[in-house]
Amino acid sequence: MKTKNIIIIGGGFAGINTAKALLKENKSLHITLVDRNNYNFFPPLLYQVATGFLDVSNISYPYRKYFRGYSNFTFHMGELLEIKTDINTVVLTTGELVYDKLIIATGTKSNFFGNENITKNALPMKTIADAIYLKNTLLERFELATRTEDPLERKKLTTVVIAGGGPTGVEIAGMLGGLRQNIFAKDYPELKELPFDIYILDGLPTLLAPMSKSSQQYTYNSLAKMGIQIKLNQLVKDFSNDTVFLADDSTIETKNLIWTAGVTASVFKGLTSEHYGRGQRLLVDSYNKVIGTANIYAIGDTSYQATDPAFPNGHPQLAQVAIQQGKLLASNIIAELKREEQKPFHYNDKGSMAIIGRNKAVADLPNPNLHFKGITAWLMWLFVHLLSLINFRNKTKTFFSWISAYISKDQYLRMIIRPAEDHDKKNT
Ligand SMILES: Cc1cc2nc3c(=O)[nH]c(=O)nc-3n(C[C@H](O)[C@H](O)[C@H](O)COP(=O)(O)OP(=O)(O)OC[C@H]3O[C@@H](n4cnc5c(N)ncnc54)[C@H](O)[C@@H]3O)c2cc1C
Repeated sequence: MKTKNIIIIGGGFAGINTAKALLKENKSLHITLVDRNNYNFFPPLLYQVATGFLDVSNISYPYRKYFRGYSNFTFHMGELLEIKTDINTVVLTTGELVYDKLIIATGTKSNFFGNENITKNALPMKTIADAIYLKNTLLERFELATRTEDPLERKKLTTVVIAGGGPTGVEIAGMLGGLRQNIFAKDYPELKELPFDIYILDGLPTLLAPMSKSSQQYTYNSLAKMGIQIKLNQLVKDFSNDTVFLADDSTIETKNLIWTAGVTASVFKGLTSEHYGRGQRLLVDSYNKVIGTANIYAIGDTSYQATDPAFPNGHPQLAQVAIQQGKLLASNIIAELKREEQKPFHYNDKGSMAIIGRNKAVADLPNPNLHFKGITAWLMWLFVHLLSLINFRNKTKTFFSWISAYISKDQYLRMIIRPAEDHDKKNT
């Protein structure tokens, strides 16, 4: 039998799980994984990199090492630009590749809702590069504040506004609240008199909108107790001249707007507008095949599947959806080769959780319908996130980093390290 070329674009939760499962079929399939980075990373812990609690290497791993030793696997670093559906070819920033089947697993990117000022000035939290940039920027601004005489300027440099009250916004707010309580006064004695104000804003009437009422209330109370200023029913309209403009015409003066307020999928040349649905997600059937194509599939955050009876408006953009879709697609492709029956996708919802701070988290489990909060949910969160890391090395490194941070109530990854070219640019 002729070997079939399967190209997977994107090595996140969806792509990597598909690749791993397909590699078992080493006689009839050749898998090429394409990603714009040469590493996989774990987005749920990005905020800990951004706040200096974890090193980048705790939550990332190179593809070539992960897939080492498979004779039917190729890694290609490059970014997808175009799909030539008529000749089964993908155009990448680094060349062209021909496929028998194409799997798009490119996830999402930050959505700034077309606002140029926010795009240019806000600090997003979606990639490793975003997390490093955010950490460097906040630390540089705090350093600048220590040297600044003007009190208003000092306040703007040290005030942080977080747009988006979902899990990422809540987690980063809680983490910054903890840093303010335990570390800032010790590290920045020059800024002792400053409040280091932290705001979290959301356009909805609640934080953690998809979670249970009891989780929402506990999260609100916990953040408020930590002194985080919570503004609900508040959309950010603009961010310019060191000012966040809100929908009710109020303003907050700051240089630091962290943007966790929305994501959108990417549009690729070669597919038409009929292929895309809400949030630019690719419309797929119950087998994750892009509707109207013969051999193109989309999985994970970038796909929109309305065929699952329990999720008629599409699935939530979560790691578990991506993992389960990736695994099922691989087993369906293998079933097709063996002329066996393929299975439609049904999401097995294992629940959702968010961490707020030391000994504080919330967890909602759907089956049975249970809610946990406080230290129980916090331990569950630590356990689930630790187990979800890609390999033993990352799990143990992270475990010891957390133990050390918990005991010392401190962290030490507060170095400002910029790539040389950035440094050169700044000095010319
Ligand atoms: C800060 C943060 C915290 C989160 N916390 C949680 C959580 O606690 N629990 C949870 O369930 N979910 C969480 N999520 C959501 C979860 O990370 C996503 O649902 C999941 O990553 C989706 O997996 P995916 O494989 O579809 O996409 P991703 O994991 O985003 O992977 C996409 C891959 O595609 C690559 N790529 C993108 N575009 C291109 C291109 N044009 N060419 C080549 N490669 C490309 C990227 O480099 C990346 O490797 C969080 C997300 C973020 C950003």
